[in-house]
Amino acid sequence: MTTVLAVANQKGGVAKTTTVASLAAALAGLGRKVLVVDLDPQGCLTFSLGHNPDRLESSVHEVLTGQSSIRDVVLDTEEGISLVPATIDLAGAEAVLLMRPGREFTLKRAIATLGDDFDVVLVDCPPSLGVLTLNGLTAADAVLVPLQCETLAHRGVGQLLRTVSEVQQITNPDLTLLGALPTLYDSRTTHSRDVLADVADRYGLPVLAPPIPRTVRFAEASASGATVLAGRTNKGAQAYRELAENLVAHWDEGRELRSFAACE
Ligand code: ADP
Ligand code: MG
Repeated sequence: MTTVLAVANQKGGVAKTTTVASLAAALAGLGRKVLVVDLDPQGCLTFSLGHNPDRLESSVHEVLTGQSSIRDVVLDTEEGISLVPATIDLAGAEAVLLMRPGREFTLKRAIATLGDDFDVVLVDCPPSLGVLTLNGLTAADAVLVPLQCETLAHRGVGQLLRTVSEVQQITNPDLTLLGALPTLYDSRTTHSRDVLADVADRYGLPVLAPPIPRTVRFAEASASGATVLAGRTNKGAQAYRELAENLVAHWDEGRELRSFAACE
């Protein structure tokens, strides 16, 4: 059984890509076979895992437009994670897909052709709620929403939750909303905590633990083409490891995910 997890938030800079790369490395570290799918035409996930999008012959664009099979575009990366890369061509896939019936199901159908090759597929959604994100949510068993702990973090959350609920009604009744993952968290002030309490209150959205602390190691890691788990141990890597362990216990044993409120 393959579990597909979409990481989505139409806001940019909330650590979607960082979460996909770091969580993938952590799950691979737990012995899972992990595939990540870059659905952002910017190709940041592709780049951060050591591949230059400008030099690639084929990518998720060819998969979504029916020119390649997903197996043919999968790349290996340093940390034992397999990658379906994105290039700027993906910006044009949206227009092609919009002309097609069943356009929301294209990624789901492609992932299904992989059979049991992977235990977990993580989908890095772009910062929009367009047809690419709809493909990610339609292909997914569950969605995780990284939320940067800053003022106005809640802007757009309502719209995202409405999209998730529409996907549940129309293209993917089995989609589970795991909750918000606090990112860029600063434990030294009460501000991050207040923001999270506000979002949880307003939307009844579960907030997961552990929060991912803000640390400079993430910027250093993505510039080096490796994830934050590859280098010296640090509190960012440790938080993603803990999240990976919680997810595995949730998927394998049905254990409840730890919530932020419960760990205060
Ligand atoms: P998104 O994919 O949502 O646009 P990214 O994952 O690209 O967001 O992250 C945006 C920026 O924030 C990147 O420069 C990344 O290195 C940085 N970043 C992400 N998580 C953290 C963190 N926990 N601490 C510090 N910087 C982070
Ligand atoms: Mg991104």
